[in-house]
Amino acid sequence: METVVLKRGREFTLVRRHPWIFAESVESCSGAPAAGEIVRIANRDGTVFGSGFYSPQSRIAVRVLSFDPDATPDDAFVADRTAAAIGRRAEYFAHGATDAVRLVNAESDGLPGVVADCYAGWIVIQLSCAGADAFKKTIAETLMKYTPGAKGVWERSDVEVRARENLQPSTGPVTGEEPPELVEISENGLRFLVDVRKGHKTGFYLDQRDARAATGRYGCNRDVLNCFSYTGGFGIACRAAGATSVVHLDSSQGALDLARKNTELAEGCYCASEYECADVFSQLRKYRDARKSFDLIVLDPPKFADSKGAVMKAARGYKDINLLAMKLLRPDGILATFSCSGAMDEELFCKVVSEAAADARRDFQILERTSAPSDHPVSLSFPQGRYLKGLVLRAV
Ligand code: SAH
Repeated sequence: METVVLKRGREFTLVRRHPWIFAESVESCSGAPAAGEIVRIANRDGTVFGSGFYSPQSRIAVRVLSFDPDATPDDAFVADRTAAAIGRRAEYFAHGATDAVRLVNAESDGLPGVVADCYAGWIVIQLSCAGADAFKKTIAETLMKYTPGAKGVWERSDVEVRARENLQPSTGPVTGEEPPELVEISENGLRFLVDVRKGHKTGFYLDQRDARAATGRYGCNRDVLNCFSYTGGFGIACRAAGATSVVHLDSSQGALDLARKNTELAEGCYCASEYECADVFSQLRKYRDARKSFDLIVLDPPKFADSKGAVMKAARGYKDINLLAMKLLRPDGILATFSCSGAMDEELFCKVVSEAAADARRDFQILERTSAPSDHPVSLSFPQGRYLKGLVLRAV
């Protein structure tokens, strides 16, 4: 194993068990390890702190696998970590109302660059760094072996970050059976069709499961506007709770087609559903000009800020849509508003939403604060893992 030597004083993040070593903290490296090779991490005095995946071309030079100086991570080590992560999801499999579950949540499960989601037995993996890529076979075989009801592993390593390490996108079957075009899952008892081959992320926004449930509780007898609807999740949760009408609004016609199929799949009472393919920023203005109003509005936009530098511009975007939505909200209305920009922390998000409320000259109560569910755990020493936050507000 080659050794990455840190600059003086840079070991403090390791002592706090943070799993990333940035390129600017590295002084030198023995030999010339290839991207993805496992390297030992030491300081200039030769004290070893652990080992991790080496990424010579990335801003994150080493992703820590073990903080044990004596560990020599190999296939068995990665298999153990994978099996342990699956074991920690036992409650989800035992309970059964939800069969779409994240099995491995990257750094927070001790496996940097590895995401694995299970959709009713169809497992989808997403490997985002060279080190994770090198263990693809071991990870896939372990997932097949230990996941209850596993049918096959499909790869969706088509994330942009791979390009930073010169990794080509890689998608397709890895082991076991191939998934159908659309996989039917159950989330809190509601059925959805998921396109694991071409859908966003690995097919579904599993991280918003609890937020959909929290928002759905307020759906009864309300006219709902589901902005950034993707395949319908929030609106369908409101419909199941007895919403009067739901407008799904998204810029992707493909997502809306699936939202329609998902609505047809859902049983329950009559609820008028509409599917509007448009840009949310301009459509909210059109509704304002047409004096339309709603009882419950969901704002679940994609990531607006990719980096700390982009935060202020992102803040303007969040404020804009929140202000527009607040103006469309009827008295006693509910606003469920979210941000998945990791660079914008919860405090700043709340500040932006409260500034929007001030500009709208309306008062709101916080009914719920939401975050990713427990199958997306966040390591205590890895605050970057906590990117998703949300507020369910009531206009008073
Ligand atoms: N709420 C969804 C997930 C939303 S993901 C769920 O619960 O599953 C973000 C969605 O926003 C994507 O479907 C994307 O197509 C859509 N989108 C991105 N930018 C948009 C824009 N400017 N206007 C409308 N939709 C947009």
